[in-house]
Amino acid sequence: MHPPPSLPAHLLDSLAPRRSASDALICGRFAPSPTGSLHLGNLQTALASFLQVRRRQGIWRLRIDDLDTPRTKPGAIKAIQEDLCWLGLEWDGPVILQSQHRGWYYSWLSWLRREGLLFPCRCSRRDLAGLARYPGTCRQGDRGWGWQQGRLPSWRLRVPNHDPYGSGDVVLRRADGFVAYQLATVLDDLRCGITDVVRGEDLREAEAAQRSVFAVLQAPAPTFHYAPLVMDAQGEKLSKRDQSTGLKALIDQGCDALDVIGQLAFGLGLVPHGTRCSVQELLDR
Ligand code: GLU
Repeated sequence: MHPPPSLPAHLLDSLAPRRSASDALICGRFAPSPTGSLHLGNLQTALASFLQVRRRQGIWRLRIDDLDTPRTKPGAIKAIQEDLCWLGLEWDGPVILQSQHRGWYYSWLSWLRREGLLFPCRCSRRDLAGLARYPGTCRQGDRGWGWQQGRLPSWRLRVPNHDPYGSGDVVLRRADGFVAYQLATVLDDLRCGITDVVRGEDLREAEAAQRSVFAVLQAPAPTFHYAPLVMDAQGEKLSKRDQSTGLKALIDQGCDALDVIGQLAFGLGLVPHGTRCSVQELLDR
């Protein structure tokens, strides 16, 4: 087994100071991707995350996951902020835009690569379809179909076989050159000193990969919690592309902020059906 790599001092300085057990500062975040307007499921997650930290006098940050620029929808970043403010979900500090930290993520990627912790992988999604976990095809170099076809590689973290999280080798740099969500989110959670992550149930599967990344950075992972998904009448997960499931549709039906917060809190099992309440009332309960 190799000894753990020593982390680069110049990059470590940009992370939040490591917490001691006596330092009780709680910090949560809501991290939507600006691919459309927030739907009720996103808003329910935002409320869950907000209440979870504010109840303990914690800090609540708003981070916009806008690294995947082609998927960013014009106006979405502003609309997200307006919707949260309308509901009374006010965040601390400036809005964090991942797109403003690209250089910093790439510095970490370079360091990981120099340490020999990454390897190029030319497998396509199709090559890996149906597999629960990456089987290590490109770990030893020139293997698999993709190499013969000269595909551009993604870069995977070499996760030790005895890794307790069972994530397999996580993609940290996508084949299109973008920093992968799994790396950016872990680095941001560390930089901002996030102690508590509340996100939608659909992201539960990402946890193992992120825990493997925290482990390679020798940093403690936050506590992860998952909010229930909101389904449409067909039993499908809501989508940001569908305008009918956002705040605007509810406002058009005559709902005010108290109705909407009541509805979201009902979805979280906090109040009976039909309750009208403010965020403050939920905090005071
Ligand atoms: N940006 C991700 C999404 O909207 C969520 C990231 C996270 O909470 O870890 O699905």
